[in-house]
This record gives sequence, C-alpha cells and structure tokens, in this order.
Amino acid sequence: MEISHILVPTDFSLFSDLAIKKAISLGKIFQAKITVLHVLTLSEVNVLTSQPGNPWENVVLQIQNDMMEEVRKVADPSFDLSKISLEVVAGEPVEEIARFADEGKVDLIIMGTHGRTGLASVFLGSVTIGVIKKTCAPVMVVKCAEALK
Ligand code: ATP
Ligand code: MN
Repeated sequence: MEISHILVPTDFSLFSDLAIKKAISLGKIFQAKITVLHVLTLSEVNVLTSQPGNPWENVVLQIQNDMMEEVRKVADPSFDLSKISLEVVAGEPVEEIARFADEGKVDLIIMGTHGRTGLASVFLGSVTIGVIKKTCAPVMVVKCAEALK
C-alpha cells in the first residue's frame, strides 16, 4: 500500500490534535502530503458571515490560522510545513469529508474516535461512524487523546 496523501479532518478537539500528530509521524515515513480539513455546517457559516465585515473569505482565513496553530502545537520543529495543506469547506461534515477523500485521491484518513461535542460513553462519534460508512478510503481512528494533555 502506498501512502502519498493523508487526510485529517479536524474539529479542533484533542482527538484531532492527536490525529494530526499521527499523520505527521506517518507522513514522514511515507513522505506523504497531508491535508487538514475542517467542515463548517451551513448554520455555522450563516452565524459567522452575518457579522459585519466578515465575508466567507475572511472566515476561511481565520479557520486556516486556527488550523496552522493546531498543526504547530503538535508538529516537531523539524517538520516541513509545506507538506501540509489546509482546507475549509461548508456543508455536512460526513458528506464533505467522504467527498474530499474519494475525489482527492486520499490513501488514508486519520481522525479521532470522538470530537468536541459527543459523550465519551458512546463508542464512536457520529462524524467518524458516518465517514467510515461512506468513504472508500481506509480510516485510522485515534483514541486516548488524554495522552497529549
Ligand atoms: P458527536 O458530534 O456525534 O456528538 P463527537 O463530537 O464526540 O460526537 P465526532 O463529531 O464524530 O465525535 O468527531 C470525531 C472526529 O471527527 C473528530 O476527532 C474529527 O477528526 C472529526 N470531525 C468531527 N467534526 C468535524 C468537522 N466539522 N470537520 C472536520 N472534521 C470533523
Ligand atoms: Mn462532533
């Protein structure tokens, strides 16, 4: 199996931080490109863009800044940041993550078992379950994000 493109969907939770960390370690071994993707729901987009002077392009830039901060938090200083692309899209998270993976020639998705909003007692979060069901790409789920604290 060749791994030249890894997709990490992030919701900025500790689990996503850990998924990015794993993607960077694996990406180094395979010299893979890494895409970090955040999906904003349409209602989130409406709230954010309804603030004066905050068009969609600004929202994208702000989220990309947050993503770069998240990457820097977990990447070791020797990591070549040009291997990372930051994508922000609007829509339904499961649909958009699966679409990106299947259209973007992604070899592996790395994501958290859980995210920001769910109950830890639930086996897997709804976005993770939905992506596993929908995509053709292999999915690696990371857990025990407490290790990063
Ligand atoms: P739920 O949302 O079902 O209440 P949860 O928040 O604990 O539960 P998920 O939302 O499934 O769990 O999150 C699991 C993983 O999915 C996250 O660690 C992240 O990798 C990814 N993810 C979740 N939401 C998004 C999003 N909006 N954009 C990109 N990736 C996401
Ligand atoms: Mn969630």
